[in-house]
Amino acid sequence: MEKKRLMVIGAGGVGTVVVKKCARMADIYEEILLASRTRSKCDAIAADSGPVPVRTAEVDADSVDDLIRLINRFNPNLLINVALPYQDISIMEACLQTGVHYLDTANYEPKDKAEFEYSWQWAYHDRYVKAGLTALLGSGFDPGVTNVFTAYAAKHYFDEIHYLDIVDCNAGSHGLPFATNFNPEINIREITQPGRYYKDGQWIKTKPLEISKDIDYPRIGPKPSYLLFHEELESLVKHFPTIKQARFWMTFSQQYITYLQVLQDVGMTAIKPVEFQGMQIQPLQFLKAVLPEPASLGENYQGETSIGCQIRGIKDGKERTCYIFNNCNHQSAYHDTKSQAVSYTTGVPATISARLITQGVYQKPGVWNMEQFDPDPFMELLGALGLPWEIIIDGQLAFEKPEA
Ligand code: NDP
Repeated sequence: MEKKRLMVIGAGGVGTVVVKKCARMADIYEEILLASRTRSKCDAIAADSGPVPVRTAEVDADSVDDLIRLINRFNPNLLINVALPYQDISIMEACLQTGVHYLDTANYEPKDKAEFEYSWQWAYHDRYVKAGLTALLGSGFDPGVTNVFTAYAAKHYFDEIHYLDIVDCNAGSHGLPFATNFNPEINIREITQPGRYYKDGQWIKTKPLEISKDIDYPRIGPKPSYLLFHEELESLVKHFPTIKQARFWMTFSQQYITYLQVLQDVGMTAIKPVEFQGMQIQPLQFLKAVLPEPASLGENYQGETSIGCQIRGIKDGKERTCYIFNNCNHQSAYHDTKSQAVSYTTGVPATISARLITQGVYQKPGVWNMEQFDPDPFMELLGALGLPWEIIIDGQLAFEKPEA
């Protein structure tokens, strides 16, 4: 296969993992360009990556014109967008106009409204088909691997999936009083908005963090988990119409929730601008500026994450359950890429999909979600690239804690 050129936008926690992992794939890439708002961050990542040469550039990814100029200069085959969800549309537009395949890890979100859904990006489908280009959406862990886990279970273990619970636990500790594991602005917007889940063809809305229960995570034990809306629910219920109920759960410590509540109560999580010393500033953006960068949390992070899909459905007329999951240790992630496990579990799946698109395995003109491709080649690479997974069929969905 002729080697290809890869472009990556975004030099944060996830961008670090993507570039480090892709730069080890000298069998398929001849050169990588890492571009972001702050060039010095790109240079630091490039200096520590290889053997594929990594060039760097500054770009404002909100500007379609700037993006087109840079893409035309470098001439990549594929662009991985690991900037922020705000930039999805401008980057998709630029890829379309320059004839480049597109991949991201989070769906579009307008800056002035804490709301995310796929409609804006799905609207590009016909134009991508016409251009003969592939756009693959949501290739992180959740969304991303959780979509592939569901597709894998549906392909190999079920005739019909009826109930889906996506369960996401971070049982790690970074040793700081309060920090978010990915971009603070996006993270806090996600958690402070109303929850939502799917039941019998309808979306049921809840107040933020209104519903919670203890979930028993493999090798971690029971942890309080809160029902949130998460974007993969939207595509999974569309593509697996036999699903009767789909929910998403995430763990938060009591300390995290207390800090968040205080920040909310004093107005620091608001996205409506306020006047400060003659300037309009958005409180949440200011808060982001004073919180630790997700990319800086890795070195002292202890413990592990556990993310998976608990599925119930029918096979050969009988009820069946399935739990597919990955546990990822923060220190192992740091050892591999100098990043914590949340950036790692997002960056590795993006690296895998990029590899499959580059090799032509995941190429199909149009705009797609992860579950619309064959899950098998992805699942084969997942363990090999650092995220081994386990599957339990018809087992008890309760796990023993490891011995002390
Ligand atoms: P970070 O904040 O660490 O990194 C974001 C990067 O994007 C920064 O380097 C930032 O530049 C750059 N950036 C922001 N705006 C622009 C712009 N206008 N032009 C160019 N570059 C820009 O975030 P993460 O790495 O934690 O997250 C990256 C993405 O991954 C996000 O979209 C997030 O939602 C997604 N994600 C997905 C997950 C999944 O499982 N699917 C899980 C976790 C994250 P600067 O350095 O100057 O600020």
